[in-house]
Amino acid sequence: MKFDTKVVRAGISPDPTTGSILPPIYETATYVLPEVGRDLGFDYTRSSNPTRQVLEDNLAAIENGKHAISFASGMSAVDACFKLFSSGDHIVCGDDVYGGVTRLLDNVIVQQGLSVSYVDTTNTDAVRAAITSTTRMLWIETPTNPLLKVSDLEAMVSIARENNILLGVDSTFATPVFLRPLDFGADIVMHSTTKYLAGHNQIIGGVLITSNQHVFEKMKYIQKTIGAVSSPFDCWLNLSGLKTLHLRMKRHEESAMQVAQFLESHAKIDRVLYPGLPSHPQHAVAKAQMSGFSGMIAFELTGGAEAGKTLMNNVQLCGLAESLGSVETMITHPASMTHADVPVEDRRKRGLTDGLVRLSVGIEDVEDIIADLENALKKA
Ligand SMILES: *Cc1c(COP(=O)(O)O)cnc(C)c1O
Repeated sequence: MKFDTKVVRAGISPDPTTGSILPPIYETATYVLPEVGRDLGFDYTRSSNPTRQVLEDNLAAIENGKHAISFASGMSAVDACFKLFSSGDHIVCGDDVYGGVTRLLDNVIVQQGLSVSYVDTTNTDAVRAAITSTTRMLWIETPTNPLLKVSDLEAMVSIARENNILLGVDSTFATPVFLRPLDFGADIVMHSTTKYLAGHNQIIGGVLITSNQHVFEKMKYIQKTIGAVSSPFDCWLNLSGLKTLHLRMKRHEESAMQVAQFLESHAKIDRVLYPGLPSHPQHAVAKAQMSGFSGMIAFELTGGAEAGKTLMNNVQLCGLAESLGSVETMITHPASMTHADVPVEDRRKRGLTDGLVRLSVGIEDVEDIIADLENALKKA
């Protein structure tokens, strides 16, 4: 099956009893067993659920993985991944990752006795140097949230192999439409399905995908034990959103490129970060390993933080909101919103300034998006 066909069809077959073309929403906690010691494939929804199973089969197929585990949020998926390790183990994490991941590592995982080093994963030598004898995992985002840094996946895979550690990739920004990290040799792919994969601002969800049987069994065990599972209804909404993933991503990307070019040529804009622009520091790597540059842009105004705030307070069509990856265009101030819990010093060090604006370009008419930004920029 080709990718676009998989998006629409993989794992989904008509319901055998009714012919329903869509999978039913199995809103049930438990399942009646035909006899002691035998079930019909399901026993309790914390362990598994038929609607969730369809979603997992579809997500595994579109990432070219063997197994997917669907979670109640992106963060619970990340947490389950870090629970593979124990006290004394060390994690090397990209220095520009989603603020919630930094919060989880610094305030929860470290308390469980693990240690963490943050490193710029666009610098291969720095990644290699950060690995110690107790390192168990390299965790990266590519492109990153919010600075859109792109890591060389081939290099990250070699480092992980050389050191016999796992490579986990948060691929939320790229989506399997543009990048499939398992094809490069990554061990685990994670998505906040809240974003592009569901795509319609309806649910919070996450997923872990792997082809490593051992890692899958451990992560599945952790999920079943802790129970951060996605509800059958959320799984159904996610499946519904997924059906147009390939079409939406094409539009997100086309429009993001036009918006990025508009911003880059605007006198009030100081710098634009979009992997599709030749001015992006890792444009060459992005072009080589991705089939498209997705729909996220970050930028700074020449007037700094104040001008940025004025812009964000004056947009009308763009929604000032925390999230991203949905059909609606959303604008975000990472320093006070998504990354507010990252200590100021760390934000500065990684280049996340108070003036940084993040834009998730939606699928409205791009002329309307640009006109909205142009109007708001007049005041900034
Ligand atoms: C949103 C996001 C997360 C967290 O996912 P939730 O679904 O909000 O729990 C993790 N990583 C990235 C890159 C994200 O954008």
